[in-house]
Amino acid sequence: MTLNGDNPFLNLNYEPALENLGEDYYDQVPAAEFPQHILRFRNDNLLPKLGLSSNCVNDNHFIEAFGKFKGVRPFLALRYHGYQFGEYNPFLGDGRGFLYGQVRGVDGELYDFGTKGSGQTPYSRGGDGKLTLKGGVREVLAAETLHRIGVKTSRCLSLVETGEALWRGDEPSPTRSSVMIRMSRSHIRFGTFERLYYIKRPDLIKKLLDFVINIYYSEIDLHSSDCYSLFYQELVKRHAQLTAQWMAAGFCHGVLNTDNMSITGESFDYGPYAFIPTYDPNFTAAYFDYGKRYAYKNQPLIVRVNLEMLQLPLMTIISPGSLETALNNFDDYYQSAYTQEMLKKLGLSGLIENGNELVEVTIDALKKSQFPYHQFFIEIMTQINQGWWEDESTILENSNLPEIHWKNWRKLYYQTLRKISPDEIDEIIKQMNEFNSKVPLLRPQIESVWEAIANENNWQPFNELVSKIR
Ligand code: AMP
Ligand code: MG
Repeated sequence: MTLNGDNPFLNLNYEPALENLGEDYYDQVPAAEFPQHILRFRNDNLLPKLGLSSNCVNDNHFIEAFGKFKGVRPFLALRYHGYQFGEYNPFLGDGRGFLYGQVRGVDGELYDFGTKGSGQTPYSRGGDGKLTLKGGVREVLAAETLHRIGVKTSRCLSLVETGEALWRGDEPSPTRSSVMIRMSRSHIRFGTFERLYYIKRPDLIKKLLDFVINIYYSEIDLHSSDCYSLFYQELVKRHAQLTAQWMAAGFCHGVLNTDNMSITGESFDYGPYAFIPTYDPNFTAAYFDYGKRYAYKNQPLIVRVNLEMLQLPLMTIISPGSLETALNNFDDYYQSAYTQEMLKKLGLSGLIENGNELVEVTIDALKKSQFPYHQFFIEIMTQINQGWWEDESTILENSNLPEIHWKNWRKLYYQTLRKISPDEIDEIIKQMNEFNSKVPLLRPQIESVWEAIANENNWQPFNELVSKIR
């Protein structure tokens, strides 16, 4: 029997990695006390990563650890700033969350448990520090979907409904409340470094950078003279890769402020995100993004701009020349990653020499026809058969694709298949299934799941959607 009873979550091996960096980076905060704790989502798929199995963890363990916040301390509200819609904001920071703890996974990597909706902190700026239940539900669905199709993303470990009435401008109010646990590689953001530059503490930038390289870029030798420029090169590469994954997934993050950009190159923080219904470059997810700054098509450009802004704090350590050289690679990395990500969706990555033209023609047809983006990939993966090698006209013959826009595509896809042996069909189908979801997470789907919860407290559609996504 340990101090924390038999709750497996309270007995994990927490490592005070960030805590040991010192108080310049965070404030210790208490967790809010909630009137109710109803477990609405537990992510059993994450338990093996923590060395746990579903049958040793009961709902009460989740509630005690991640709703009542018993046992593990201290909780750290992380300090950060950031560029929001292009404007520098020095009043950010964990305003409704904190770093609950850091845990070593069975894969040897360090993971953060971060909260969202756990109450006020010194950074709440008059906000209530809470998360709406709908916001929690939406983040669970985004993370599970993105993870399912191979995007490097944070996940939600739990969502507990907390029995409060919240008022929000963007939801019919009063609306229900929740607290979420997010498991991610790190909650250190570009904005964490931007703050240290703003308060003129290059010493703290260097200390944090050493920490980041040591834990999240372990392939780089901290003793080598060029370790810092290698770090930035790798950061550029990781973000180009991530952006390509979002674009291929048809995912519009919605709020690509620098406080939502992870220093590890992982995707996280899903607020007003949306998946594109059709290929519309100007599709914009956040209703408050009046200038369409974070429109779908702008994501590669914006991520590059954010990487460029990060050069200011990094210039205290890395020469401007090597930062610039590294950033100049972004477009090439992005383009080739995007081509590969699209080829995966088409089932052809690694099977053909040069897929640029096929990807271009696919996008052109999706754009001109405005055929539903996700439905197109669902149809190729469910309809493909050996006959496609024999007769071009059978390709997607059961789909309602307007011939005028799809003729070229069909021809090119046929020619591409002809270069591959029909014996590869299993590999093609395998790729298609790995990188496409059979359940598109479009707004109407999310809204109908939410309606059932809001109107009848019926969680069945939500649970069914989660299992279908998986
Ligand atoms: P986000 O839009 O979630 O990335 O948050 C941007 C900033 O606003 C962060 O500093 C958040 O902690 C803060 N924030 C967002 N919502 C709230 C809230 N309800 N209460 C306090 N702070 C909040
Ligand atoms: Mg955020």
